[in-house]
Amino acid sequence: MVSKIRGTQDFLDLILFNFIVDTTKKYLMCHHFTEIATPILESTELFKRSLGLETDVVTKQMFTIATQKEEELMCLRPEATASTMRAFLEHSIQTFPWKVFSWGPMFRYERPQKGRFRQFHQINMEIINTPSTWYDAYLITLLDRLFSQRFQLQNYALLINFLGCQADRQRFKTVLEAYLNSVKHNLCETCLVRKEKNILRVFDCKNSVCQEQYRNAPKIADHVCTECAQEWKQVQETLQELSVTFSVEPTLVRGLDYYDKTAFEFVSTELGAQSAFCGGGRYNHLAGQLGSKTEYPALGASIGIERLMLLLEPLKNILPLPQQPGIQVVVPMGPEQQNLALFIADELQNNGLCTDVLLDGGSLKSMLRKANKIGAQHVLIIGQEEQETGTVMVKNMQTGAEERIAQTALVAYLKR
Ligand SMILES: [Zn+2]
Ligand SMILES: [Zn+2]
Repeated sequence: MVSKIRGTQDFLDLILFNFIVDTTKKYLMCHHFTEIATPILESTELFKRSLGLETDVVTKQMFTIATQKEEELMCLRPEATASTMRAFLEHSIQTFPWKVFSWGPMFRYERPQKGRFRQFHQINMEIINTPSTWYDAYLITLLDRLFSQRFQLQNYALLINFLGCQADRQRFKTVLEAYLNSVKHNLCETCLVRKEKNILRVFDCKNSVCQEQYRNAPKIADHVCTECAQEWKQVQETLQELSVTFSVEPTLVRGLDYYDKTAFEFVSTELGAQSAFCGGGRYNHLAGQLGSKTEYPALGASIGIERLMLLLEPLKNILPLPQQPGIQVVVPMGPEQQNLALFIADELQNNGLCTDVLLDGGSLKSMLRKANKIGAQHVLIIGQEEQETGTVMVKNMQTGAEERIAQTALVAYLKR
């Protein structure tokens, strides 16, 4: 027996998965976003440039594919923002802002745990080429309404932070480094490495002793330039104006190098340690990192489908999940009626009636049981007598009533 790869999963029931994707798609299109799709395979260089060489994703979690030529190094995409920006630049998009979304599998080689998979699925939305921070409040509000109204989630929190511009972060790194040096005897190995290589990431450490130190650490939002301070104030005020509940979380930095200014996460305590089910923020310099001479300020967010599924599972009864269409089940009583059964099933399908047909034989009782399990509206029994008289015995599975109907009148009868 060959089993699936650790950290991957088979979806044997896609009702909730599709509900999430379909609802979000419709919702985003209603907000004038356009759906796009980019390849799952991308050049490794794309993520080295965008995510940063010192991020965990690039150093440890890439599914790189060995090819003949070193310069052709490719990988399974670990996220979608860099690909979307690549597409924007590659096709010289002239729509400003470019509001797009996509969805699909992402890949990260990491230790599987609750809510964390090596192949996971995301819905990704981006608003490319706008410096207006009102779009930050717009995107956050849009997501908040999606979760609270369309998905009826109540038990979640919105955390936001402001990472300043590049110059602010450069200055802040010195301030933070001085602080970390003063408490370094209390920090774990990982934090000491991050302090040297990717200093803002120290805040992501789950170690409680480290977290204790970070409670009193300097806050980046307190160390931003006048312009950034104004933007940060405006984003918060607009959110308040729109009645979006949020908490400012000074240690929220997002793991990836390309983020600056607004950063946010939607979290739920029901998810355990991996509590975020949606995250995003601004990435005003990603275009430059990818080699563009012009910067295209942008922002975006991604929703983790598997994590949202965990949150929606208990709400299945109150969500408007799509109903299975009513189905007609054709039951031939013997081998002589199989062809006729297929003929009738074909006729019904051609007339827009959802139909199944039982071709394995068996007793009437066992076939009725099967039809009941399928959820049949009607069972259409075809025995020798029906075959000879050009009729079908129609059993209404809700009332139990049976009626003999001419085969030629069957479609009209079932549609009435
Ligand atoms: Zn600034
Ligand atoms: Zn630590």
